[in-house]
Amino acid sequence: MSFSTLGLSNEIIRAVTERGYTKPTPIQMQAIPAVLSGGDLLAGAQTGTGKTASFTLPLLHQLSSSDNSFKNNKSGYAPIRALILTPTRELAAQVQESVYEYGKYLQLRSMAMFGGVSINPQKRRLRNGVDILVATPGRLLDHVQQGTVNLSGIEVLVLDEADRMLDMGFIRDIRRIVSLLPKQRQNLLFFATFSDKIKTLAAGLLHRPTMIEV
Ligand code: AMP
Repeated sequence: MSFSTLGLSNEIIRAVTERGYTKPTPIQMQAIPAVLSGGDLLAGAQTGTGKTASFTLPLLHQLSSSDNSFKNNKSGYAPIRALILTPTRELAAQVQESVYEYGKYLQLRSMAMFGGVSINPQKRRLRNGVDILVATPGRLLDHVQQGTVNLSGIEVLVLDEADRMLDMGFIRDIRRIVSLLPKQRQNLLFFATFSDKIKTLAAGLLHRPTMIEV
């Protein structure tokens, strides 16, 4: 199996080939077609399995191949189309780097947003327009509070390392963020270790998900 048989566009295949990937990993073989089908996904995968590319590649494909021009921008802040939540700033930065690298032949703008750094440059960056936002929950809610982020156009929500986010006590923040998103959207939930908490979160968030465990 190759990346092209999975249905990804030439621009994305060119970027992964330049990165040195010759074939998809097991999680990518399962997750990429599931995400491209537009349905929800519940995936168990450890770091090191290629899980980041398993959601960023099909996400980039979906966003670049669907026409979003009908969405106008009343608030002054361009609507963000995909939101990836991560437990830590390091992971947010790393995921955004992957999005940037795999999407280098596409016209999508991405941003990493996390606490512990000044908020003003993030506001400026948001004003310039962001399609894919990779964020930690706390700083995202700071922006929500200040009215500097618009989540009304989110088409895809990704929870990366959701079990770690729950362990870190982010459940209320996640619920608050989810309540601000459009009801009609695709949800992808990644975890390393399954637990009752993940089960509850998935039950409330996902609609008839494809389930994958590698
Ligand atoms: P991750 O599980 O997302 O943290 O990825 C682990 C490592 O595998 C990263 O360094 C990726 O660059 C690399 N990787 C992801 N997909 C592939 C692939 N299909 N072939 C080779 N390496 C990959």
